[in-house]
Amino acid sequence: LMGQMMNQPLLVSSIIEFAARHFGNSEIVSRRVEGDVHRYTYRACHQRAKRLANALQALGVGMGDRVATLAWNGYRHLEAYYAVSGSGAVLHTINPRLHPEQVAYITNHAEDQVLLFDLTFLPLVEAIAPHCKTIRTYVLMADRDRMPAGSKIPDLRCYEDLIDTHSDDYTWPQFDENAACTLCYTSGTTGNPKGALYSHRSTVLHAYASAMPSALNVSARDTVLPVVPMFHVNAWGLPYSVPLNGAKLVLPGAALDGKSLYDLFESEQVTFSAGVPTVWLGLINYAVQNGLKFSSFRRTVIGGSACPPAMMNTLLDAFNVEVIHAWGMTEMSPLGTTCTLQHKHLALPQEEQRRLLQKQGHAVYGVDMKIVDDDGKELPWDGKAYGHLLVKGPWIIRAYFKGEGGDPLQDGWFPTGDVATIDEDGYMQITDRSKDVIKSGGEWIGTIDLENIAVSHPAVMQAACIGVHHPKWDERPLLVVVPRPGMTVSREELLAFYEGKIAKWWLPDDVVFTDALPLGGTGKVQKNKLREQYKDHRLP
Ligand code: ADP
Repeated sequence: LMGQMMNQPLLVSSIIEFAARHFGNSEIVSRRVEGDVHRYTYRACHQRAKRLANALQALGVGMGDRVATLAWNGYRHLEAYYAVSGSGAVLHTINPRLHPEQVAYITNHAEDQVLLFDLTFLPLVEAIAPHCKTIRTYVLMADRDRMPAGSKIPDLRCYEDLIDTHSDDYTWPQFDENAACTLCYTSGTTGNPKGALYSHRSTVLHAYASAMPSALNVSARDTVLPVVPMFHVNAWGLPYSVPLNGAKLVLPGAALDGKSLYDLFESEQVTFSAGVPTVWLGLINYAVQNGLKFSSFRRTVIGGSACPPAMMNTLLDAFNVEVIHAWGMTEMSPLGTTCTLQHKHLALPQEEQRRLLQKQGHAVYGVDMKIVDDDGKELPWDGKAYGHLLVKGPWIIRAYFKGEGGDPLQDGWFPTGDVATIDEDGYMQITDRSKDVIKSGGEWIGTIDLENIAVSHPAVMQAACIGVHHPKWDERPLLVVVPRPGMTVSREELLAFYEGKIAKWWLPDDVVFTDALPLGGTGKVQKNKLREQYKDHRLP
């Protein structure tokens, strides 16, 4: 017996249509690459998205065709999110921080037909255009008066001209909700980047689930500023989950330094934000150095790499900003877990609550997870046993784009490449990426713990721990430290700082100091680079 409900496909266009109709006056505020602040409403965004959909149709973009973007978080990028996917084409958000050769590789692999890009990336696009074999139309997302005279790019179009010549009379097509919607490539730390191809269904379900109260808890009372770029796993779904809830959206453009962000947080009265740990370093430093507080900012989600407890404590104690630690990956759209408390935890002493909040958290409805040993046997949820973390769910990939890398699944589960524990209440904690784990005398040492302790030392700004070759133990931990500006700390002091905090055999064998850690395109420490750099380091 079948249910008798309307059969309405879950399409991304329905989100902007809903926001425009039911929260039409809610604002979208963007700091433009041009420097000024632009503001309009969901209603106006919807109209411009429909103009762009008409323009794309006129350019010959059809169902399933890929349209790429090289763009910051801004209103035109948001319009592209809805116009491209909504019209049945596939939005391919490219990370401009990748090496230009990788950007060209990705556009060729994706067979992008159109590229929409911000003014910032004009030199990049000019450099790669001769190597991009499939792109027919280049569109600069800028005002008419900012169009360059005599660009090397053939037939360069102006975004504003393009949409001005088309009407907003457009009806979003209805099609199978399993049709492709967006394409994101992994950052490719090992080998070429691989594409994760999301569907309309997976994107809408992810938007619903990620906004729930036990997850990110986005509501129409929030003003949300995603610092996480719209080219980093679709800004963790916020360009969908925020309009779906009618919240005000603030898009920071290219200005991601502490001062620019602080000013925007204050002028727009931002309540909720999202970003990787490295972006918070800049904002926190700026606020501390200038003795500033936030007048509206109350919550932020931090993920992408482990949020050090010291950062979480500073945000809470010095700024009254609550951190939702979250975990996910490109292959998971990206959200897998969020760390929010249950009723029974509210009675716990503050210290215990915080220990719990430092975990990566419980699964979001839709995601199932388990940990297994090297033979694939499931391990207990006791908070101690650690093993390979496997996941499944409707917004987790079953294959990479074009079948790259073969079948990634193990018995229907996706292996995340992370090593984790899960406790009795289902709270998962990442101990390491399997490729970053240090193998000492056949035992694993988790680097995240060692790094978290290092950055809780007042003179340490950033730290990364890597395994270096050891004749007896195979590998031993080496701690690489970036001291806080104007402060010093010795190797001996730091090693003594570990005393009583970890098992003796986890203690790093040595400490080296450096001015900066190598960061990848999504703001994460590139441990493969560090391992290469220190591969000949002689441990004492
Ligand atoms: P890439 O894998 O290309 O670096 P992703 O953004 O998809 O890009 O990264 C996913 C990985 O980032 C996860 O598999 C995990 O190792 C790490 N990660 C994400 N969130 C967290 C977190 N909260 N704590 C620790 N590691 C995290």
